[in-house]
Amino acid sequence: MRVLIVEDEPTLGRQLQATLEGAGYAVDLATDGEDGHFLGQTESYDAIVLDLGLPEVDGLTVLDRWRKEDITVPVLVLTARDSWSDKVAGLDAGADDYLAKPFQTEELIARLRALIRRASGNASSELVAGPVRLDTRSGKVSLDGEPVKLTAQEYKLLSYLMHHKGKVVSRTELIEHIYDQDFDRDSNTIEVFVTRIRKKLGADVITTIRGLGYALEDPNERRAE
Ligand code: CA
Repeated sequence: MRVLIVEDEPTLGRQLQATLEGAGYAVDLATDGEDGHFLGQTESYDAIVLDLGLPEVDGLTVLDRWRKEDITVPVLVLTARDSWSDKVAGLDAGADDYLAKPFQTEELIARLRALIRRASGNASSELVAGPVRLDTRSGKVSLDGEPVKLTAQEYKLLSYLMHHKGKVVSRTELIEHIYDQDFDRDSNTIEVFVTRIRKKLGADVITTIRGLGYALEDPNERRAE
């Protein structure tokens, strides 16, 4: 899962970036409204954290532009403390959630997780596909109840597929959602990750759809043929 942070306070921005990376997200950071708007418009994100008070272009304008451009990614706005008018304006401009500064990073992460889950139609924080379980809160994966250790990149890939269970996901889409902007992206690595995940979780957990990409299906939900 990939997240964009648009925040002009350098310390807060970098701290959020590091925390979210530690929580298993690929993270890009923009420090003004213009750059933030451009990234949100041209890159693929699963959620965006948007500060409202920004240089160049303010956050509300950025959000309003995205929504007019049909960019539907979930957006959490950061508002000034006790500013109810900011919250109302943010929600009216198309924000999905808000958090007032100062906030606990844990709360921000929990809200982001919920936003990402809801956007992909998952109500529970634990994602299940047959014998495989992925707990989005702890970042832990298990197979038949036994914990399985995944690397950070393997986890990102599996998490994206589990959030989009039953859908065909192309290699390009996977690359866009598991790497940040600065990463040297190589589409061959996706295949390597898939192979490693299959070794750890079973060969049939991820299906290759020839010419299209990959799909993760729940064996219990597979239609009888
Ligand atoms: Ca600010």
